[in-house]
Amino acid sequence: MGSKILEIIKLVKKYESGFVLKIDYMHAEENKILVLIGPNGSGKSTLIRLINLLEKPDSGNIIFDGKQISGSDIDKVSIRKKISAVFQEPLLFRTSVYNNILLGLSIRRQKLSDFKDSFDFLIKKLKLQKLLNRNPRSLSGGEQQRVALARALILNPKLLLLDEPLANIDQISREELRADLFDILKNMGRSTIYVTHDRNEAMILADDIAVINEGRIEQYGSKNEVFRKPENEFVAKFVGAENLLEGKIIESSNNVCKVKIKKKKDEHLDNNLIISAISNYLPETRVMIAIRPEDIALYNIEMQNIEIRNELITDKNTFHGIITDIQDSGIFKKIEIDCGFKIISYDTPNSIERLGLFIGKKIIAGVKADSIHLFKK
Ligand code: ADP
Repeated sequence: MGSKILEIIKLVKKYESGFVLKIDYMHAEENKILVLIGPNGSGKSTLIRLINLLEKPDSGNIIFDGKQISGSDIDKVSIRKKISAVFQEPLLFRTSVYNNILLGLSIRRQKLSDFKDSFDFLIKKLKLQKLLNRNPRSLSGGEQQRVALARALILNPKLLLLDEPLANIDQISREELRADLFDILKNMGRSTIYVTHDRNEAMILADDIAVINEGRIEQYGSKNEVFRKPENEFVAKFVGAENLLEGKIIESSNNVCKVKIKKKKDEHLDNNLIISAISNYLPETRVMIAIRPEDIALYNIEMQNIEIRNELITDKNTFHGIITDIQDSGIFKKIEIDCGFKIISYDTPNSIERLGLFIGKKIIAGVKADSIHLFKK
């Protein structure tokens, strides 16, 4: 594990509205991107404001760069020199884009000549070359945010805080800015905390993820751990493991469990309702079974060739089911299947056509044991 640029210990912040942020422990590792993800109102911005010294906690500690910064006897100016932040709304001044970008350097009494390479790099990457003489008020929202990002990034801060910097930008500019920004952040290798409510952004950008809900950290871990091994129902749903089934372990040996799925209604299809998963929970443990929809493969019963039959027999849990719904969901279609329990799969329109899938069609759904994640109910 790398060294910690930030540690949050037993932090509490209460608002009169009744909202309480309560973080027992969280940390951010040096030179990594930590994505703080959670629904609106979960406390993400409150935490960022506390780290950025814009608010004081009621109790608890924030340790930044080895020093406590949550007490009252701190040197705010020297701490702020090491942290840069960009928020949803860019805060720009009535002077040229060029001056706005250099503002932080001049406040810190730094010479541009020392930052020339980084200035050239950033204005190129953020496509600001042609805008340097413009007044920020004549720029679009996306362009303004590009200026705010350049100003924060050129300071080369020890910790970069980005609080939903793409949230208020129209969709087309947002996608372009996201690609440019993520490219910079990933290559820069700086200590960054990036706030979002969008799991796709977390999936693309994060090294580590903290999932926050109602002021509490629900799970903290590497991106893979959080996406592939959610620890509870909230996290599973939030990271898109849409198939959540209740079950009970009936057998467990050599790190493979057999789990009996709890039926939701009367079973009319010939399913065994038992799946195998890689896990070592003891028999009788009640568990939730989480499966990402993209890990479910669908097979047309009539079209099975030998290859598919072999694939189904060797490494898949298989269930017979009937398609109950097919809905548009962006570039994919969402397919609901009744296997005695409901499961959801996503597929492209092309592959749905190729497999001859339609509502009412009987199919086989398959999922590999290592794509099934169990957690205690
Ligand atoms: P998020 O960034 O996850 O959307 P916030 O941290 O902005 O969430 O807000 C968390 C909760 O705290 C919300 O219920 C919000 O209304 C409340 N809140 C935020 N700031 C204040 C404040 N200054 N005074 C009172 N309540 C606040």
